[in-house]
Amino acid sequence: MSDTNAFVPLLLDWFAANRRDLPWRRSYDPYAVWVSEIMAQQTQMDRVVAYFDRFMDRFPDLASLATAEEDAVLKAWEGLGYYSRARNLLAAARRIVAAHGGAFPTSFEAIRALPGVGDYTAGAVASIACGLDAVAVDANVSRVLARVCDIDTPIKEAAGKARALELARALLPPGQAGAFNEALMEFGALVCRPKNPDCPRCPVAACCQARHLGIVADRPVLSKSKDIKPILVATGVLLHQGKIFIQKRLPAGAWANLWEFPGGRIEAGETPEAAIVREFREETDFTTSVAAKLGVIRHGYTFYRVTLHCFLLHLGGGNGAATPPEPALTAAQESRWVAPESLSRFAFPAGHRKLIDQLANSLWLA
Ligand code: SF4
Repeated sequence: MSDTNAFVPLLLDWFAANRRDLPWRRSYDPYAVWVSEIMAQQTQMDRVVAYFDRFMDRFPDLASLATAEEDAVLKAWEGLGYYSRARNLLAAARRIVAAHGGAFPTSFEAIRALPGVGDYTAGAVASIACGLDAVAVDANVSRVLARVCDIDTPIKEAAGKARALELARALLPPGQAGAFNEALMEFGALVCRPKNPDCPRCPVAACCQARHLGIVADRPVLSKSKDIKPILVATGVLLHQGKIFIQKRLPAGAWANLWEFPGGRIEAGETPEAAIVREFREETDFTTSVAAKLGVIRHGYTFYRVTLHCFLLHLGGGNGAATPPEPALTAAQESRWVAPESLSRFAFPAGHRKLIDQLANSLWLA
């Protein structure tokens, strides 16, 4: 099981050793950090650096910006696009002079009230430049959290956004919010990239739920709400003489060559208990009986959402025979009886991996 508790220290250590030398990081002056964050709203960081230096040469401080003509500000912004950002910078600079005497505001609320500043930018400036314990969650940060913490709802919808915000607040180390937010952004840009995340060399891989579950390609979950199908499935952990029955899926189709506990879809009008007994008979020719319900696991994929009813099963003829019977496999290429502690050596689909993590703490297999 992965350990998200170690995530923040590992992330901060990685950032301390790998942070890019960006111009606004030399002083962390609030004006410079604010300008950089506004520029980065719709522009890649490597392009921001060149424009930032040019803008700061022209308007090196808040006073010079506040007294500038709009045409001059737009000229300095030329090439960056989304010119409303430049107009908002100018309007905000003038408001800071009028309302705060020219001193950059130092509360989250006052920063958030500036033209062109939303929750993310306010959190970034407040934490990075002012040392406030504020989170800054954008698409980059959401993606990292969706992978590390296995957010299985669409990340751009209200529930996914709320979960990312909640996790960021829970993980935020008091007094180090600026480094935490910068580290998350930098990590999302350089390692946990949108495409081709560098998992083999990832410094927080041991803490990453998505990697642990083998579902990095499914995180973050994208918004396809109309196409997301609910699927009801039953699965059974057949226990015999201290060993558990597992089978290896066929070499083609979904989850090819992964190991699994037998099971399958619950048919209309069928109870989950009846479904697992039927599925086991169809897939192995074993007659089983339900000894206990182990729980329900819900797991989201890109296009469907699985509700997995999990059962502990015994062989129908009792558990007396020392030698477990041979199955007649119809949905797998091979099978094994394995000790519970050996399950970690086999690759399982994510839903079954979650079940194994639960079983590790279960009295049923003790
Ligand atoms: S292991 Fe991969 S998916 Fe997980 S945090 Fe690292 S780079 Fe991202």
